[in-house]
Amino acid sequence: MTHSTKESLTDPFDVLTVLCDRLKLPEVSRLAAARAQQAATAQWTYSQYLVDILQAEVTARQARYVVSHTQMAHLPFHKTLDQYDFTFQPSLDERQVRQLLTLQWVDAAENLIVLGPPGVGKTHLVVAMAAQAIVERIAVYFITIQDLVADLRKAWDENRFATRLGLYTRPRLLCIDEVGYLPLSPLEANLFFRLVAARYERGSLALTSNKGFIDWGQVFGDPVLATAILDRLVHHSTILNIRGDSYRLREKRKAGLLGAAAVRPPLEAPLPVELPPS
Ligand code: ADP
Ligand code: MG
Repeated sequence: MTHSTKESLTDPFDVLTVLCDRLKLPEVSRLAAARAQQAATAQWTYSQYLVDILQAEVTARQARYVVSHTQMAHLPFHKTLDQYDFTFQPSLDERQVRQLLTLQWVDAAENLIVLGPPGVGKTHLVVAMAAQAIVERIAVYFITIQDLVADLRKAWDENRFATRLGLYTRPRLLCIDEVGYLPLSPLEANLFFRLVAARYERGSLALTSNKGFIDWGQVFGDPVLATAILDRLVHHSTILNIRGDSYRLREKRKAGLLGAAAVRPPLEAPLPVELPPS
């Protein structure tokens, strides 16, 4: 007997392997034989069997998508909303935050602004939104404002600002972390304004800041520019203003690493949310 490819593929599962390869269905290929055995034992119908292996393919594909896109989105860590302890942060309305996780605001190209002192979970909350967006196959990118403006400034210097701006305009959700930790130069503030303007009513921004809006004039080095930025950011937005203790310090306190003097970290003044005078 000659051994043509056809003859060597008399086992239907061998044929299936080839077909699955062509169709890019690795999970079906991997599971088909074992699940067929299971199906025979449990007396599944043909359609139950088919649904079972196709469901496995879809699940595996989604898992691969989430892993690769989480990397591409550049998240600083992975946290979900279920890992957020709302009892520790009573100033936050849990129902409102859970509602935000539906991402209707991203559908509407609205913004999310999370304000509060260090350690209250601003980045955690934005990461949780970003992770959910990835699950829903929304294009997401996460960056600190420092890295963002450094990149935009470099592009500006190299005469390729428009292209670079296009890159940051594309994701439906752009997360910008740590606004206000360091002041921006006039050029950086200007480039940041252009980004906010380019995304205005087109794509969502999720932004964190340790500074109240009143202090943004200093952050952007110019109250007029700060007002122009805030105007666009705040127009269609939800603002979460967290006034509480640092979760990091609480964990240290619990571990007995901080002395009595540090039991309550000095609270920053409540963050005002009014616009700075123009
Ligand atoms: P911020 O960005 O406000 O400085 P982070 O989001 O980086 O704070 O939070 C610091 C750490 O504490 C992270 O590991 C975060 O997951 C955790 N954390 C902060 N607040 C909470 C909370 N309420 N429940 C659970 N973990 C929290
Ligand atoms: Mg942070």
